[in-house]
Amino acid sequence: YNKVMILDIPISNLSLEDFLERIYGELSSKTKNIFIVTANPEIIMTAKHSPSYRKSVLQANYIVPDGSGIMLASKILDQPLAEKITGYDLFHIFLAHASEHKKTIYFFGSKEGVASKAALNALELYNDFKIAGTKNGYSGLGEDIALEIAETKPDFVFVGLGAPLQEQWIADYKYLFPHAVLMGVGGSFDVLSG
Ligand code: UDP
Repeated sequence: YNKVMILDIPISNLSLEDFLERIYGELSSKTKNIFIVTANPEIIMTAKHSPSYRKSVLQANYIVPDGSGIMLASKILDQPLAEKITGYDLFHIFLAHASEHKKTIYFFGSKEGVASKAALNALELYNDFKIAGTKNGYSGLGEDIALEIAETKPDFVFVGLGAPLQEQWIADYKYLFPHAVLMGVGGSFDVLSG
């Protein structure tokens, strides 16, 4: 699919509709996991200055334009991107999809009690999905924690550790989730729990 390079990061040039069609198609064929980065200017700038973070971000299957800064940059480069796709919107779109298709979700990140409260609020907003589990982001980020999360076999893994931690974590451990959609959601659990 078509991409636009912004500071050496390939941003996917897809409308939200086309993007979702691809994701849901790949999800139903269950052939591989899908790592999505919602790229805002902070992520692009951090990747510019940190080669190791850049390597993590480049492992994503889709890097979508999260916000008007990226959209504007694409216009200035005379390669306008199709549509802005923000992380918080995408988070809710996937929760609604999980609810419709009885998929399981995992919330990993934020302070003690936040992810679990966010998951309960998500259940009130969208019924029918199963919460595979929740875990705060301050009791370890290593392989043992990743294995614990992977054992619950979630269809969607939402990682709220903020950038750059969340993309690094997903890049390091996505091999443990062969069929999941994995996405960093920044402070979204804080918002949804409030
Ligand atoms: N966080 C975490 N573990 C850490 C560092 C951060 O769980 O070691 C969480 C933090 O509690 C917050 C989120 O990561 O919920 C980062 O939120 P922020 O608003 O900084 O992210 P942004 O939305 O700006 O990417």
